[in-house]
Amino acid sequence: MKSLVYHGPMDVRIDDKPKPMIQDKEDIILKVTATAICGSDLHLYHGVTPGMEPGQTLGHEFMGIVEEVGSHVYEIREGDRVVIPFNISCGRCWYCNNGLWSQCNRSNPNGEIGAAFGYSQSTGGYDGGQAEYVRVPFANTVASLKVPDSISKDEQVLFLSDILPTGYFGADITNVQPGDDVAVFGAGPVGYFAVMSSFLRGAARVFSIDHLEPRLSKTKDLGAEIINFDKENPVEILRKETKENGVLCIDAVGFESVGHTPSDGGNSNNSNISNSSGVHDHSKVSDPIYEPANPIQVLEWMCQSARKYSTLSVPGAYVSAYDKFPFGQMWNKELSIKMGQCPVKKYNEALLHLIETGRIDATKIISHTMKLEEASKAYEIFDKKEEDATKIIFKL
Ligand SMILES: [Zn+2]
Ligand SMILES: [Zn+2]
Repeated sequence: MKSLVYHGPMDVRIDDKPKPMIQDKEDIILKVTATAICGSDLHLYHGVTPGMEPGQTLGHEFMGIVEEVGSHVYEIREGDRVVIPFNISCGRCWYCNNGLWSQCNRSNPNGEIGAAFGYSQSTGGYDGGQAEYVRVPFANTVASLKVPDSISKDEQVLFLSDILPTGYFGADITNVQPGDDVAVFGAGPVGYFAVMSSFLRGAARVFSIDHLEPRLSKTKDLGAEIINFDKENPVEILRKETKENGVLCIDAVGFESVGHTPSDGGNSNNSNISNSSGVHDHSKVSDPIYEPANPIQVLEWMCQSARKYSTLSVPGAYVSAYDKFPFGQMWNKELSIKMGQCPVKKYNEALLHLIETGRIDATKIISHTMKLEEASKAYEIFDKKEEDATKIIFKL
C-alpha cells in the first residue's frame, strides 16, 4: 500500500509498505479516505523532533471506513465511517478514566507524554494515516466517533481529528468567557480554529497575529482584528487597544516560531541538543538540521500582553530539548499556564454536532486538495508556504 514515509530531514516519500494487520484483539484496520498535513508534521519534516526515525509513516489527521475489526472490538463494526483523534488512548488507565485522553499511561511505552499516530518514537512509534490503510489500536476508545449520514463530504469533519478540537482547547484552557478580549498568536489552521472557538464562546474582540497575509485574511473573514508582526509590534497594539488591560493569550505556534525581537540575538544556546547521548533516549534531538532562532518568542509576547491573573493557553507544540522560559514575568503578573496535547475526545462529539447543525463550517481553511501520490510535493509547498497554502488535505 502507498504510505508517506519519513526518510530524514526534508525528505519524505511515498513508499510501498505492507498493508497493516490486526495485532491485538482491540485493533481495527481503517481504510483511509481523507487525511491532512498538520503544522506539527513540519516539526517532524524539519528533523527537530526527538525520537524521529526513518521508516515512520506520518499522519495524525485522518478518517476512513472500518475495514476489519479485532475480536474484542464492540463499539464499531466493518463499514462504519469514523474520524480518528490523533491521541491514542487505552480507555482504561487512570488518565483515560478521568477523561485526560492526551496523557494515557499505557499507549506510549517510550515516554511521559501520551501516544499519537505518526509522530516519532517519543510518542509511541505508531505508524500514521497518510497512507491507504492504518492500524488503529484500542479501537473501542480511539475509533468511537462515527460520522452521521447527513455529513456528505469528508472534509466537513476531517479536522475533528486534531486542529478543530485543538483550536477549541486553546480557547477552553484560557477560559474565554463572554465579553473577553483574546489574542491568538499564529493564524495557521489551529490559530484559525482558536479564533473561531473564541467567538463561539462569546469573545468581544479577537486579535489574530501572524505575518503571512493569506492566513490573516482567513482569520479576518472570521471577524478577527489582524496584526502583521512584520509591520507592527503586536505587544504595543494589544496594550493600546485594550487600554492596558491586556488580553487572554493563545499560542497557536509552538517552538518553531519566527519573530523580530529574539531575546538572545537569535543565537540559541541549546547545548543539550548537540550533547545527545544514547540511541534509546527519545527525549533528545540527535542531529538537528537547525535550531529554532528563538523558541520562546510567542511566550515572551504573551507574557508582555497578557491580562493579569489570566491563564496563558499553549496548544502549540514545545519540545523539552529547546526549553527556555520567562519565569519572572509570569510570576510578577501572577499568570497561570495551561498547555499540552489537546485531549481530542473531550471535544469532538460537541464539535461534530456544531458541524452537523451548520454552526461551524470547517472547510474554508482548506487551500489544497491533492492526491496522496503528490505528498512529497505537498510537504514542500506547505513548508515553504507556497501557493498561499493554509491547509493541504489528501483524498484517497
Ligand atoms: Zn495535527
Ligand atoms: Zn489510557
